[in-house]
Amino acid sequence: MRRVALIYQRKLLEHDFGPGHPFRRERLALYFEKLRVEGVLDLPNVRVVDPDFKASEDDILLVHDPSLLNLIKRLSVGGGMLDADTPVPIGTYERALIQAGGIIYAGRAVMGGEFDRAVQCVAFGGHHATKAHYGFSFGFCYFNDDAIVIRHLQKYGYVRRAFILDCDAHHGNGIQEIFYDDPTVLYMSIHQDPRTLYPGTGFIDEVGVGAGEGYTVNVPLPPGVDNENYLRALREIFPPLMREFKPDILLFIVGADNYFADPLTNYNLTMAFYPELTNEVLKIADEVCGGRILIRLGGGYNVKAAVNAFYLVTACAAGMEKLNIEDVATPPTGKASSWITRQVDSTLTQLKRILSKYWACFK
Ligand SMILES: [Zn+2]
Repeated sequence: MRRVALIYQRKLLEHDFGPGHPFRRERLALYFEKLRVEGVLDLPNVRVVDPDFKASEDDILLVHDPSLLNLIKRLSVGGGMLDADTPVPIGTYERALIQAGGIIYAGRAVMGGEFDRAVQCVAFGGHHATKAHYGFSFGFCYFNDDAIVIRHLQKYGYVRRAFILDCDAHHGNGIQEIFYDDPTVLYMSIHQDPRTLYPGTGFIDEVGVGAGEGYTVNVPLPPGVDNENYLRALREIFPPLMREFKPDILLFIVGADNYFADPLTNYNLTMAFYPELTNEVLKIADEVCGGRILIRLGGGYNVKAAVNAFYLVTACAAGMEKLNIEDVATPPTGKASSWITRQVDSTLTQLKRILSKYWACFK
């Protein structure tokens, strides 16, 4: 039985983007309530942890320019806006340190052998946060926790190489920017075609620069993609890269915003997708990096769907076999159109050709 830490930071329940904002405050509490109802919290191998641990300013500065730290700090005193999409309610700075601290705690505990796996559901995003705020929308993010935890684990000698698999519907432009020239962190993102969705980055030819060339892998999939085509893309690209890169740890970001009923995106995935995705990822982590995995539950703007999907991911990580797979609306029927399948085929063929320059597994 895998020992699983569920990071549940009560202070984060306070974070409220405000009325009408797509990122709903109630998501986090409803997710934990769902875990309780479904019996996940009763499993003997699961422990709920609210670590008394905050990221330090030094941790933030491992990744970000001081200008961003000072901006968030200043705005969070009286409340304000980082950009049109990203309000900064009062107290945000402290909560941002707490949320980043939660995943740092989890990373240290997993690398130290206290837990095998850890799961954290976020109260605000991370993967769109670039080193500094250049005026472009941060998409509900403040600091890039995903990058901060990896840099922290590297700095303190827990980890040399890390693999980040990002299965949120949006491309993690911030993570990509931060590690673009870094061969010690492989960032792979599967996301909706950037021509059709914010932030508009993550094309297959964005592969990294300098020493980091080949260590950024983007798998854009067209709107309307179904479970089968998504999972096919994952299975053709992710396992071979993991086996060849051999990371010390896997950071797995999974959004529920790729669900068909999400109001912000255009995918056709159903609830049955989430256990399949998670089990595939866990299997490869077991095989390649001793099962050491940090799971971050990210975007998801249909609250009910996000709660169900995040419960499924968490239950799989906890080793629960009997799952309650419940769609929140009538799922799309039938298979994806042959146009979508052909698009995915063509993307995968081109991507493998590009990657074959850097990775023997695609030669
Ligand atoms: Zn997203």
